Amino acid sequence: MTRRGLVLAIAKGRAEVLVGEELVDARFTGNMAHRRKHDIAVGDEVVLDGDWLAEVLPRRTRLSRPDPGDRTQERLIVANIDVIGIVAACRKPAFRRGLVDRLLVGVYRGGARPLIVITKQDLLRDRAKLEAELEAYRELEIEVILCSAISGEGLDRVRSAIHGQLSAFVGHSGVGKSSLLTALSGVAIATGEVRAYDGKGRHTTTRSQLHHLGDGTRIIDTPGVRSFGVGRIDYRQLAEGFPEIAEAAELCRWNDCKHAKESECAVKEAVGAGAIRAVRYKSYLRLLDELV
Ligand code: GDP
Ligand code: ZN
Repeated sequence: MTRRGLVLAIAKGRAEVLVGEELVDARFTGNMAHRRKHDIAVGDEVVLDGDWLAEVLPRRTRLSRPDPGDRTQERLIVANIDVIGIVAACRKPAFRRGLVDRLLVGVYRGGARPLIVITKQDLLRDRAKLEAELEAYRELEIEVILCSAISGEGLDRVRSAIHGQLSAFVGHSGVGKSSLLTALSGVAIATGEVRAYDGKGRHTTTRSQLHHLGDGTRIIDTPGVRSFGVGRIDYRQLAEGFPEIAEAAELCRWNDCKHAKESECAVKEAVGAGAIRAVRYKSYLRLLDELV
């Protein structure tokens, strides 16, 4: 008998799979065992044959980061997330758009829908200044929600933005992701702790939680997803992570233009004309600098 489930944790040779309400400790079949560990990820939809993990179904979306041991390789962090909430605080820590821009590149690349959540509104001092910072994202038709886990402001909007979807929240430590999750749900299904091996053969303990908010709304919280990076990309892929730059780049006369030092570059002209915001272009240049 085969059944389908959702991977919540991975260890050597086996995975914890949520099938309905039941958590199954599934072993890889011979066919699966030879696949490298990072070919399966939390969020993968899988087919179980009894308690054997027989097949990983095609992924809708993916979030990756560079492999710490070999930076030319990417490691998949989580699969099939529909909505990624990029979380930043309006204060404490101060809002930094560079980080939001960086995370957006990774989200676009993996195919999930981005959502920007600005927490700690109860601490907000200068709303006009914050709104001005956020305008660039609204222009890109990214939903931006201001909220507070303390006052409860904006939580209903977050709930409706992720309604019926599988979502995850990413962002710097301390911005309020855990508090947001608790405020949104309270009910979490924790997986058993899985003794896994990291790249250096050491034992590590990874733990993922799936929060059910009802009506098919699920939030996954898994190690690594909170701090994912851009991954291994080239300058073209970087431009694709900035939709307004990608659009202007189509008019660029140079086929291999990085839109940086080149003259007669359509992207730079669009920045000069105000069609691309200077702050966004600055983020692009900073990330471009890091590529090499
Ligand atoms: P995480 O590291 O992103 O998961 O952040 P936490 O949820 O652990 O929150 C970090 C700190 O910010 C904690 O001291 C929280 O109490 C505080 N915090 C979280 N959300 C809010 C909020 O909406 N308003 C205020 N004033 N503090 C918050
Ligand atoms: Zn160009």
